[in-house]
Amino acid sequence: MKRLGNIYLVSVFCIILLSISCRRNNNDLKNSSMVFQNSTINALVEGIYKGDISFGELKEYGDFGLGTFQDLDGEMIGFDGEFYQVKSNGSIVKVSDEQLTPFSVVTKFNNKESSKISAVKNFHHLELELDKVLPSKNYIYAFRIDGFFKNIKARSVPKQETSIRLTEVAKDIKPFIKPSETRGTLVGFYFPSYMKDINVTGYHFHFLSDDKLFGGHVLDIEVLKAELIINPIYGFQMILPKDNSFKNVDLTKTTQKELDTIER
Ligand SMILES: [Zn+2]
Repeated sequence: MKRLGNIYLVSVFCIILLSISCRRNNNDLKNSSMVFQNSTINALVEGIYKGDISFGELKEYGDFGLGTFQDLDGEMIGFDGEFYQVKSNGSIVKVSDEQLTPFSVVTKFNNKESSKISAVKNFHHLELELDKVLPSKNYIYAFRIDGFFKNIKARSVPKQETSIRLTEVAKDIKPFIKPSETRGTLVGFYFPSYMKDINVTGYHFHFLSDDKLFGGHVLDIEVLKAELIINPIYGFQMILPKDNSFKNVDLTKTTQKELDTIER
């Protein structure tokens, strides 16, 4: 009798679990955008530059995103399923499936509904414009902005032989400046402040010109005329590096001030 009771309890539990998982699969997960990232921003700041995921694998999780490369060899920007590497000398090449990344963020960008933006005089004003249209600061968002820009200040990061902290690397970087009108694409994300040890909080954009001759991590930009698409994200997936450098690193010492100095 006791055994039958146990079987009955287990069955009821399984039916409840099954119905919960079906409901989530059908209604939530299928229709909502997910973001995928490997490693954490703090690990990158602490010099964990060895990648253990290839761009071939990364593409299974998204066709749109930003990040960096094995040994911190440049800035990554990806959209429409194509990924590009902006090297520290400013040259830009297509990324091969075999290349590795120590930190990247991607999503399947599936929103097509666009709105117009114009006359945004700098990056800070772009942040204020986006603040006005975000329905809540508690979600993650992906942004795509296509159009005409000028006064673009962007940078890339140089390949590293050692695990020197990113704060040290950032000190010596000379940004690329492009004052003239340039047609191109901004790829960006917004992460809420409660994710501060995981990713860059607030707005984070990479740029690529249409002619693929200018790009990088955006420090400043003027928007002349552009189309904005916002992709809200309701799910988050993260894979962590398996090697010893990640196992042994102290991820509690990175400060928000250090991140602001590196990213802004
Ligand atoms: Zn960046």
